[in-house]
Amino acid sequence: MRGRMMQMPLLVSSLIEHAYRVHGDREVVSRTMDGSVHRSSWGEVRTRSKCLAGALQARGIVTADRLATLGWNTHRHLEIYLGTSSMGAVCHTVNPRLHPSQLVYILNHAADRVLFVDPPFLPLVEAVVDKLDSIETHVILCGADELPDTSLPGAISYEEVLAEHDGEYSWPVLDENAASALCYTSGTTGNPKGALYSHRSTVLHAYGILQPDVFGLGRSSVVLPIVPMFHASAWGMPYATAAAGSKLVFPGPRLDPEGLTEQLWDEAVTHCAGVPSVFIPLLQHWRTTGAERPPSLEMMVIGGSAPPRALIEAIEGEFDIVFRHAWGMTEMSPLGSSNVLTPEQRAEPAKQRSAYHTKQGRPPFGVELRIVGEDGDILPNDGVAFGELQVRGPWVVDGYFASDEHKLTPDGWFPTGDVATLDPTCNIHITDRTKDLIKSGGEWISSIDVENTAMGHPGITMAAVIGVEDEKWGERPILIAVAATDPPPSFDSVIEYLEGTLAKWQLPDEVIFVDALPMGATGKVQKTQLREKYGKS
Ligand code: AMP
Repeated sequence: MRGRMMQMPLLVSSLIEHAYRVHGDREVVSRTMDGSVHRSSWGEVRTRSKCLAGALQARGIVTADRLATLGWNTHRHLEIYLGTSSMGAVCHTVNPRLHPSQLVYILNHAADRVLFVDPPFLPLVEAVVDKLDSIETHVILCGADELPDTSLPGAISYEEVLAEHDGEYSWPVLDENAASALCYTSGTTGNPKGALYSHRSTVLHAYGILQPDVFGLGRSSVVLPIVPMFHASAWGMPYATAAAGSKLVFPGPRLDPEGLTEQLWDEAVTHCAGVPSVFIPLLQHWRTTGAERPPSLEMMVIGGSAPPRALIEAIEGEFDIVFRHAWGMTEMSPLGSSNVLTPEQRAEPAKQRSAYHTKQGRPPFGVELRIVGEDGDILPNDGVAFGELQVRGPWVVDGYFASDEHKLTPDGWFPTGDVATLDPTCNIHITDRTKDLIKSGGEWISSIDVENTAMGHPGITMAAVIGVEDEKWGERPILIAVAATDPPPSFDSVIEYLEGTLAKWQLPDEVIFVDALPMGATGKVQKTQLREKYGKS
């Protein structure tokens, strides 16, 4: 027997319509590229999203077209998120920190028709525009009178596009399983792969992260997503805050401690979220300036890579702010777990609490977890056995955009590539990664990419790259190599060579020459041995 309940699809448009109807006056504040503060509201965001959708439709954009963004966290980026998905197109956020060759690959693979670009990223696009196959229009995120000189074909300012439509536009009623947004992850080997979110997964994920034991957001919350909107939809906060009616504060390009501190004070922020490498200098700034911590700040949500214990201890002990550890991945929209201590653990001093907080926490309703051994056996949740963490749930991918790769296990679980223990309450402790990627400042560095490039240097025959613990960035790469020449090439010559292909932050901090690399039975470099020898800073 079917239940007698209405069939209302879960759509991104329902989030923005709700925010408008119920929380239309709640503010959306954004720092702009010139440093000034822009103030609008959920009501205004909805009107402008409709202008954008209407204008794009008139320009020939249709359902399922991919529209790319290269932008900081701003009100305009929010309007693009909501307007493009709600009209049935796919909002494709692109990470401007990628190497230009990856940028080209991703934009061509997605076959994006429009590229929205924040002015600081124009040189990045201008340098590769000849290689882009599908972009018809470049929309520069600025006012009509601010349009910079650019060689990009079809360049037009965002405000001019908005002015093309009066906002009298009705959102289409879409299938809730239709694609809404696309985000490529380079967290695996080979070419980047696109996680293609649906309207349904996005709305369910928004419900998920609003829960008290996750981000715990409501109408009175003031939320500062420091995590970029090109990193797994800023962890879903643009959607969740629309549902909750929170005030939303965007940092624009200012992720420096001074800029963030100013916004935390000026906007009375209650919740902020980002990767550990943002918070370490922020706390240091408060210490060195002797500044009081912003009095409104209730919670810092930190994830993306393992936060150091000293950071956790300082947040709770020194600054008396609730620390919330979150784990997830692009393929999980991204939330997988959050760590809320038991009342008994909370009663202990900050130093002791920080040890509990280093765990990644428990899954919210909507995510199921298991760990699996090398032979495929499901391992016990005893806090001791460790294996690959596998997940499933309505906001976890079941494959990648335009890819035949079968990623799921035969019984339908997504293998995360993280190695973890689970305790009897499903509390995760990530101990390692199955892959050898390095995560520096919240960005992945593929060791294979760096090695392959290094091995093109005429003075290098073999190379292995491993991550070394780094207080500021989490990890930094170092290169261990066998020289082809005597004497071996200098550090400068290796770096100069790598600079041809790799972004600056992907370059190794150190180059160590050895007589031979440790090799395993199947002819693979034994990185575990290298990590044991060189992996600690
Ligand atoms: P991404 O898809 O770029 O968000 O990267 C996801 C990966 O980042 C995960 O599979 C983990 O390896 C790592 N990660 C994310 N959050 C945490 C965390 N809290 N602790 C340790 N590793 C994390």
